[in-house]
Amino acid sequence: MVGIVIGLTGGIASGKSTVSDLFKEYNIPVVDADIVAREVVEPGEPALAGIVDAFGSDILLPDGALDRQKLGGIIFQDQEKREILNSIVHPVVRARMTADRDRLKTGYPAVVLDIPLLFEGSQLHLVDKVVVVNVDPSIQLERLMQRNNLTEQDALDRINSQMSLADKAARADAVIDNNGSRDETREQLEKLLLRWNIKEEA
Ligand code: ADP
Repeated sequence: MVGIVIGLTGGIASGKSTVSDLFKEYNIPVVDADIVAREVVEPGEPALAGIVDAFGSDILLPDGALDRQKLGGIIFQDQEKREILNSIVHPVVRARMTADRDRLKTGYPAVVLDIPLLFEGSQLHLVDKVVVVNVDPSIQLERLMQRNNLTEQDALDRINSQMSLADKAARADAVIDNNGSRDETREQLEKLLLRWNIKEEA
């Protein structure tokens, strides 16, 4: 069996993590790009050595772990440094995700790559099908404000800094509408799994 590779994405607070958890409940493995991106810069990993070469050992905390806050501050306003960081980290993340994908897809009917910037980072070639978790702007705003305890303006700034969710939905192979209850979202996912022959009728 060679499973189908599904790229899962959305916008901030659209419900991507919620849907990712649902995939796992259906026993479909999920490779999470954010987790992989953290793992590749753990102490002892080559990418961390590369970051120290580029940014100096001041970028480490006393215990040898990456000082993410400091690095975030450095790259926030400096595009050149951001590109340097990306050139160190991205190839390693991509290689590890590809390896995880290939290992998992031989044992499962599907494997999910959970990639927040699937479209923006031109990573579409990693997957067979794209699923976008979509919500209406007003619900996205409300859920983001509540989850991250943000003012309306701060939440809007974060939403507007991303590619619009509607544009992503328009480019997806399947859209999961997460405006309703979690149960309604689960029903849509189940239908999709049946349609794509990932799950058999109970
Ligand atoms: P993302 O991973 O896309 O940023 P989350 O899955 O974390 O989004 O969802 C954003 C917030 O909205 C979370 O606080 C989550 O608990 C809540 N949420 C997600 N889906 C629903 C839903 N269908 N009904 C109610 N709340 C939801």
